[in-house]
Amino acid sequence: MTRTYVGLGSNLDDPEKQIQMALRALAALPQTTLIRHSALYRSPPMGPQDQPDYINAVALLETDLPARELLHCMLEIERRQGRVRTGKRWGPRTLDLDLLVYGEERWSDELLTVPHPEIPNRAFVLYPLSELAPDLNIPGFGPLAELLKACPAEGLRRCHGNG
Ligand code: ATP
Ligand code: CA
Ligand code: CA
Repeated sequence: MTRTYVGLGSNLDDPEKQIQMALRALAALPQTTLIRHSALYRSPPMGPQDQPDYINAVALLETDLPARELLHCMLEIERRQGRVRTGKRWGPRTLDLDLLVYGEERWSDELLTVPHPEIPNRAFVLYPLSELAPDLNIPGFGPLAELLKACPAEGLRRCHGNG
């Protein structure tokens, strides 16, 4: 079993519901257990500003799926939840699932880079991740606690009452 962290994001079509549906879909993957997930967080959009705020969360899974297969399943869940790839970078989406960390693995090719290269720059990843694993050491990036110190929470808000 490999411990793996998945980042979830949505800013279209009832984002809270999209995240809850995606958590259920992750929990239903073969050879995979959803161990726990963070609270939901709200954050202003990256990139194009003419789009709604995002709802984000991070999930901890244990899986026997190889990383590429897990990514394939994640892209399929996005598709089932109506993700349309417009080609616009960081445009609005019903669901985005990013493979953040896959055990101790460090890998990069045209389909998959793990750990996700933007982890250190994203408060909406670092803060929910720290709820799940404050002592995590991210392969290639070092202790999560150090990354957090260097990344202000900015507009990030923890949502209460769900997640
Ligand atoms: P970002 O990766 O900066 O968060 P994004 O999530 O908007 O941007 P997408 O359009 O969702 O980017 O993904 C484009 C491609 O990135 C996917 O088809 C996938 O093959 C590739 N990819 C590479 N590494 C990863 C990863 N760790 N998690 C998810 N997708 C990845
Ligand atoms: Ca993303
Ligand atoms: Ca993505």
